[in-house]
Amino acid sequence: MRQRRASAISDSNSRPGLCAAASMPIMPILVPDGCRGCPSTHVPPASRGCQAVSDRLRHLSNLRPAELVQLAESLGARSFRGRQITRALYERKVATIDEMTDLPADLRERLEQDHGLPHFTVRQLSESEDLSSKYLFELDDGALIESVAMQRPTGRSTWCLSSQVGCRMACTFCATGRMGMVRQLSTSEIVGQVLELWRRHPSDTHPNLVFMGMGEPLDNLDALLPALDILTDESGIGLSARRITVSTAGLVDGIRTLMQQERGVGLAISLTTGDEAERRELMPVAGQVPMRELLEVAASYGRHFRRKVTLECAIIAGRNDDLDHARRLLKLARKGPFKINLIPLNPIDGFAGERPDSSSLDAMVDLLWSEGIVTTVRDSQGREVDAACGQLVRKQQRRPEGAPRNRAV
Ligand code: SF4
Repeated sequence: MRQRRASAISDSNSRPGLCAAASMPIMPILVPDGCRGCPSTHVPPASRGCQAVSDRLRHLSNLRPAELVQLAESLGARSFRGRQITRALYERKVATIDEMTDLPADLRERLEQDHGLPHFTVRQLSESEDLSSKYLFELDDGALIESVAMQRPTGRSTWCLSSQVGCRMACTFCATGRMGMVRQLSTSEIVGQVLELWRRHPSDTHPNLVFMGMGEPLDNLDALLPALDILTDESGIGLSARRITVSTAGLVDGIRTLMQQERGVGLAISLTTGDEAERRELMPVAGQVPMRELLEVAASYGRHFRRKVTLECAIIAGRNDDLDHARRLLKLARKGPFKINLIPLNPIDGFAGERPDSSSLDAMVDLLWSEGIVTTVRDSQGREVDAACGQLVRKQQRRPEGAPRNRAV
């Protein structure tokens, strides 16, 4: 059993935080007079107003390869120019339009003027000895997001991406949830995280991507779906859908849409506990849909794509780290093509919960494995770099004027 459990310690499902899930009120934020968000794009007000919203929706990397060809043609260029733009963006991964040197200067100028690319300024980089790099990126409008590259000596790597600035799901144990919702990320800002990480970690040729950073990805489907297309299109970034996992706090309509859209990416559900009342307490979004319905929809998703859905559980010392909780999870995991990922809590300010000790986790894993349920434990990678999603942003927001940052880049 000991050996089997050791092999069960997975890194492919590692997540730097407990991301994932909705319809609570959006936190009030400062916006220019008159800006109430964009009704046509469903983009909520940006921290620096509607101009910033329209800027990021025009970025070239919002467009799928076929759309880039259409764009080139609409600008009076031949279609091969669109393919050149696509290759520059998604194969060569250029950071600026100036680097698209195979395009005529006037076309580059036009693309710069009318479209542009998002910028990712590193406000902070936290690196741990075990090769995790956690980036705090500042976007063009000053919004802060986190992305993490977890590299392995074996060459495997997992990149954790954000889908929103803040999050409206308000999970009690999550630093991002405490920020409230600030704004949606655009497709270009989602894809841009991958391209930026690639520029910084060029040796990671085939990373696993997990949408487990800041935000609830299924609360931003308008941006997520095109991003998945660009990430998986052979003419785009060309990653296998099997290397991509979307994690949700349980938005069943979003799961259904993702299934109907046939993207084929992996699905993870932030379940946290098999006790319905306890789940509602920890994750307010759980009040919207009965756990039974959530698991039925998740099971259909797994059967449809013939891949197991991960039930993720933030394990909190003294709360859900005992064998009773493991038995509840076992009962639920038998209801569909599920595997379980136990995620020891990364404690945050404002939530009275501690990380469980390894003996409790071992006992839970032993019980689940002995009943045939594939169970992994997120390893500690990233913990020492403020790994829970939203922690860097929250710290940055609280940092007193003049206090040193972790590491400026
Ligand atoms: S509050 Fe949002 S980001 Fe945090 S765990 Fe919940 S769904 Fe994920």
